[in-house]
Amino acid sequence: MLYCSCNEKLSGGICLMDCMHNSSDKKTLKRYHTTSEDNFIDLESMDLKSNHGSPVLADPVPLSKSRLGLPSNMTPFSPAAAPYSSSGLYLQIPRRKVGKLDDVRANSWLDAMKASSPPRKKLNKDFISVSQSDETDAAYRTWMMNHPSALTAFHQITAYAKYKKIVLFLDYDGTLSPIVDNPDHAFMSSAMRAAVKEVAKYFPTAIISGRSRGKVNEFVRLSELYYAGSHGMDIMGPMRESPSVDDLPDCIRTTDEQGKEVHLFQPASEFLPMINEVFDSLNDMTKDIVGAIVENNKFCVSVHYRNVDEKMWEEVGKRVFGFIKDYPRLQVTHGRKVLEVRPIIDWNKGKAVEFLLESLGLSHRDDVLPIYVGDDRTDEDAFKVLRDSNRGFGILVSTVPKETKAFYSLSDPSEVLEFLKSLVRWKSFESGASDTLQIIFAIGLKY
Ligand SMILES: [Mg+2]
Repeated sequence: MLYCSCNEKLSGGICLMDCMHNSSDKKTLKRYHTTSEDNFIDLESMDLKSNHGSPVLADPVPLSKSRLGLPSNMTPFSPAAAPYSSSGLYLQIPRRKVGKLDDVRANSWLDAMKASSPPRKKLNKDFISVSQSDETDAAYRTWMMNHPSALTAFHQITAYAKYKKIVLFLDYDGTLSPIVDNPDHAFMSSAMRAAVKEVAKYFPTAIISGRSRGKVNEFVRLSELYYAGSHGMDIMGPMRESPSVDDLPDCIRTTDEQGKEVHLFQPASEFLPMINEVFDSLNDMTKDIVGAIVENNKFCVSVHYRNVDEKMWEEVGKRVFGFIKDYPRLQVTHGRKVLEVRPIIDWNKGKAVEFLLESLGLSHRDDVLPIYVGDDRTDEDAFKVLRDSNRGFGILVSTVPKETKAFYSLSDPSEVLEFLKSLVRWKSFESGASDTLQIIFAIGLKY
């Protein structure tokens, strides 16, 4: 019998339980059992203690082929499971109930702040030679077996993408740009900008960020992309005759800076005055905390504590959570060394992915493969949407093991850059090969 470090009994499987955290929030995770090298059986769902930290994966299991690549049950998107109906009924945005995973109980927010902000680990890129001297490295290696590098598994990704249209969704901070002390200085490199520009020539590409749409647009400066700011609550997407998009409340037709017709969707527009008010108040309230930065991201307010002495994190949390108590329509969620004050609506990055796929006219097609790359907890909503609907997969950018719905991983923005360049090389080769075949075929017909 095997035991995880949380003393959870394991019967030949892996424990995805967070053994490090004591929060009382509940959630359901899956326990898997391996019956053979190639088979995983989902034995049961478990109610587990919530966490905001790194999981400890016990008893590394042999990897099945399906776990290394895409799962065998990754079937084409089924219209029956589509969240959008032709009647547009889906377009109602109900208030979200408080009490889900990302809600933080008052007595555990300090733990959550710490757990959401693990120190970044410098990795040796050579997997085999990563130091095995400490438990963190061992946990990361085990985690990597379940979330292989999208670079080393690149051939599997392209094998699956063959004859499919890739749609690329990219987070910004920590994915395209490094995490820096001053959020206003999170510039992407010119090499990254060139790679994103190239990749957008071959695949529809969207940036989905927690920043305001205007700010992330300023950072990226590529007019060929689609942008969703404020965690998807501010989307400028392609214009398409689609009843399910056109009928959305808060969705209007407008023109972008280039004069191109676009859809502008802002499901939290009614919160705008409240968010401005909260930004002003939190700005005032945290002025005396050295290093605290409050950022107005239009439909959410970000309170960054990455430059605050850890001894003062509790004070930051106390003031933010204490203040938000008076705003029952707002919630606080955790990012990497940032508290995000957001409207309680049933809208997130996952919904933004669905909206953009619908806007692009790609929602119900079997030959579409959405790929989402992100590093943040808020990206998990998008990973989940893709995993649950068997439409595509997520790639988590992380140097530490994290509980995730993503299939693959990349360690940092430099690996994201390599992945984007690899996609371009692969697609341009594919296109070239296809052109050559067409020429040979045409010559054959002529003679
Ligand atoms: Mg990010």
